[in-house]
This record gives sequence, structure tokens and C-alpha cells, in this order.
Amino acid sequence: MHILTFDIEEWFHILDHTDTKSEAEWKKFPSRIHANCDRILDLLDRKQVKATFFCLGWVAEKYPEVIKKINAAGYEIGTHSHLHQLAYEQDKKGFTADLSRSIQTLESVIGKKVCSYRAPGFSLMQSNKWVFEALVEHGIEVDCSVFPAKRAHGGFEDFPTAQPTWVDLGGARLKEFPINLASVFGKSMVFSGGGYFRLLPMPVLKHFWSNSEYVMTYFHPRDFDAEQPMVPGLSKVRQFKSYYGLNSALGKLEAIMDAFPMMDLSQAEKEVNWENAPVYHLNK
Ligand SMILES: [Zn+2]
Repeated sequence: MHILTFDIEEWFHILDHTDTKSEAEWKKFPSRIHANCDRILDLLDRKQVKATFFCLGWVAEKYPEVIKKINAAGYEIGTHSHLHQLAYEQDKKGFTADLSRSIQTLESVIGKKVCSYRAPGFSLMQSNKWVFEALVEHGIEVDCSVFPAKRAHGGFEDFPTAQPTWVDLGGARLKEFPINLASVFGKSMVFSGGGYFRLLPMPVLKHFWSNSEYVMTYFHPRDFDAEQPMVPGLSKVRQFKSYYGLNSALGKLEAIMDAFPMMDLSQAEKEVNWENAPVYHLNK
């Protein structure tokens, strides 16, 4: 099962960086979201492949036509928060207000219920697992925010699996589709989106894809935009991570789509045998 998802945000929604941290900074940058989303929609239309779009409420508020277009083309819409803040930097009250604002904005734009969520930067961790409660309280049924290993920022090391899993909150339940990881020299690494996807050569990507029964992808409009300006103030390492391989990423994704059938989240939900899926008990 290979699941295709996109996080719909601007090219300057770079996390953990002072110059792009808040809405006040974002005003300084020109928008590139229309052309960048069209590039993705064109690819999906050409390949006749379905995908799920986790959209920022901020984008829906500012450019409702972008979200309407994705919805009108028949793709599933989830939320990626409103203001793209890391969940582990918020308290439950602030997180909940942002989540609810994003859901209300997206629902009013598309006229449908929003039932799926992905946290910015996979920032759902052991230490803020109350996020699951907030999600359930706001009608979210499917979450894609867990990175089930240690990582530089965040990571949910204690999450028991890297496959579709029930999260049991002691009564209510939520379906979790974590990021899948490949093991390289005993270390866990992600290959199905962002900088890693752009960095890894095609044969390595194909190798990982062939050897994974479950792949959860996470692409962004900026991953395929070779013309975007450089965000000011980034360290050399972050410049590399954020800008390497932008030229070839769309071709790589297209080749992966040709080699491995992809589906959206709602199709994946139907294909999982939930009766036998692992269960993570939140409060044990
Ligand atoms: Zn994001």
C-alpha cells in the first residue's frame, strides 16, 4: 500500500527558522502557491492517480480558490493546522484553537467535513500525546503525524509500529497512518518525501519502495519548484536540505508513480484490515 499525500503550504513555510516562524514574517514573501499546486494537480490528472491534500487553514483563508480547485478535482482534503506551528511548542489550549480554526476555515471553503490531520513537522510526540485527544474532540478520525523513531526535532520513539495502527484513547479510537521508515546500517531513515526524497538517487528510492509493503509519502508544493527564491538566514546545511534536487523531484515522483501504484488515504483506509491492526493504548 503506497499512499500519496501533499502538505499544502507556501515555499516559505520553513519550520524552526526565525525568519519564517510566524504570520508576520510570511507577509514579506511573494506567493507561489497557485503555480506550485497546479504543477501537482497536472501530474495527478495526467497519471489519473488520487492523493490526499493536508492543507493549511491559512492557505484556505488567503487563497480559497487554491483549495476549491483541489476539492473540485475530486481530491481528499485534510488539515495541516492553521498557522503551521510545531505541535510540541504549543499547549493544549493554543493547539486546539489553531486546529479548530483550520477545520472551520477548510470546511467553509469546501463545504465538506474535514476528518484527517497531519501535524507540521511530524510534531506529535510522546510528550504531547494529548494531541490525539484534541484531534478526536474535533472530529478527526485519521491522523498522519507520527514519525515512529528518534529524529532531530520531535519523533515518537515509543510508538510501537510503522504501519496503520489504532490509537485507543480509552473509549474513543483514531486511525494512525505513521511515516514508514527504512533501516540503513541499523539507523531508521525516511525516504518518502521532502529533502530525503530529493536527495536519494532513483535506484535507491526504487529499492526502498520495492521493499516496503507500506509507504506513506509527504510531498510539498515547494519540493518541485526549482525557481523559488532562497529563504534568508538559512544555515548552509538547511539551504542544502531545503533546496537540493528541486529540479529533478517531479520527474522522480512521476517515475515512482509509474513503477508503484499509489492511492489516497481514504482508499488506504478501506484496504487496511482494521480488525487485525495493531492497537496503541494511549494511557497505558
Ligand atoms: Zn508543513
